[in-house]
Amino acid sequence: MISDTPNILLVNPWIHDFAAYDYWAKPIGLLYLASILRVHGCKVTYVDCLNRFHPDIKKHTPSKTDGRGSYLKTAIPKPEGLEDIPRNYSRYGISEEWLRKDLSDVPKPDVILVTSHMTYWYPGLFETIRVLREAFPSAPILLGGIYATLCYDHAVKHSGADRVFAGTGEKFILELIKEYTGFSADMKFDPKALDSYPYPAFDLENKIAFIPILTSRGCPFSCSYCASHFLNPKWMIRTPESVIAEIKYWHEKYKVEDFALYDDAFLTDAKNHAIPILEGIIGAGINVRFHTPNAIHIREISKQTANLMFRAGFQTVRLGLETTLFEKRSSLDHKVSEDEFNQAVLFLKEAGFSKNQVGAYLLAGLPGQDTGSIIESIKTVKESGITPVPAYYSPIPHTGLWEKAVLCSRYDLKKDPVFTNNAIFPCRNEAFSWEIISLLKKLSAE
Ligand code: SF4
Repeated sequence: MISDTPNILLVNPWIHDFAAYDYWAKPIGLLYLASILRVHGCKVTYVDCLNRFHPDIKKHTPSKTDGRGSYLKTAIPKPEGLEDIPRNYSRYGISEEWLRKDLSDVPKPDVILVTSHMTYWYPGLFETIRVLREAFPSAPILLGGIYATLCYDHAVKHSGADRVFAGTGEKFILELIKEYTGFSADMKFDPKALDSYPYPAFDLENKIAFIPILTSRGCPFSCSYCASHFLNPKWMIRTPESVIAEIKYWHEKYKVEDFALYDDAFLTDAKNHAIPILEGIIGAGINVRFHTPNAIHIREISKQTANLMFRAGFQTVRLGLETTLFEKRSSLDHKVSEDEFNQAVLFLKEAGFSKNQVGAYLLAGLPGQDTGSIIESIKTVKESGITPVPAYYSPIPHTGLWEKAVLCSRYDLKKDPVFTNNAIFPCRNEAFSWEIISLLKKLSAE
């Protein structure tokens, strides 16, 4: 038994990568856990290694007015096996000195919870865990999040955490805390009902530049390149009332004006979900901006949803198009036909969206994909009058395309997740070259 009210430290780790930028990224899962622990009587503290607004930053890195911005970065050596990639490799986030200072300022934790993100970012996570271990040698370190779920065995073997847990942690976090501290509390929410969750503890941040909103979890589809079904096997939705109340809460109490929709399937069953949410936002007169970095389903865009999104303040609309080879896409997904795409673009334009506001993600670097087909897709999207946004493919374990990616790759993807980094085009069997990236960038921007 440790104490009546255990101290729990939650940590968002560093990123190690060739490139990283804050496109409305926040550890929403970790901050849901922080909030749940707080509601149940634990003392929580939060250290964000990616904090773009750390108090020690003399001059803030330039930020867009919509919440996005650059991370601080420090050049570091490339990981073993990637030395030949002609790109700089960096640790993104605050300096090690600031992290150590921040850790010396928090109450001694009884348990440390660390989250994880992209599978190939694990070197930054491991470095964070090493620093945490040095700062608090006796505190158990529990690791969860996306990498921990997708690469569980790798994390158990190599991360240095005392415990790795897969999946969403809400169901068992209180049990885990009890196991490590002896602290127990009656459950004040229902893990199966998203509406009963307390809002994520974004108030632990020293500046809230934007708020991510999850109106649902999971996705009813199963595209071969996506791990949504593995990370969130059950599609769960919130009521429109609860979503609108949360948006109002952050806007009124913290003056937040930018919201990033983290849903994988916001427009699915729009009649009962997105439409009442959008109507509620418009009806409440909330003057904010919405961004959809996770993309929305093209097939579900109707005249009505396009109009409502525009009127509700959607500013950055990303469409999950992936390719315009509509006849050949059945092995990838069943998202959209050519007619549905053209119709959706028309609805968005008629609603008032400009070319710069609407972008279509196009997958580049798929196993066996030739560059010509990506160029073709870029051209088709441009002709439709919206912006092509190349999205470089990263092979993900537990997805339909994984085995094919493993066979195609010039790297041993199964041995080391660091090789799944989309920045190195892991599924090309030729060496990395800047040529393709520069060409796709140029064609998209022209
Ligand atoms: S890519 Fe989008 S539609 Fe397909 S499974 Fe993932 S979240 Fe669902």
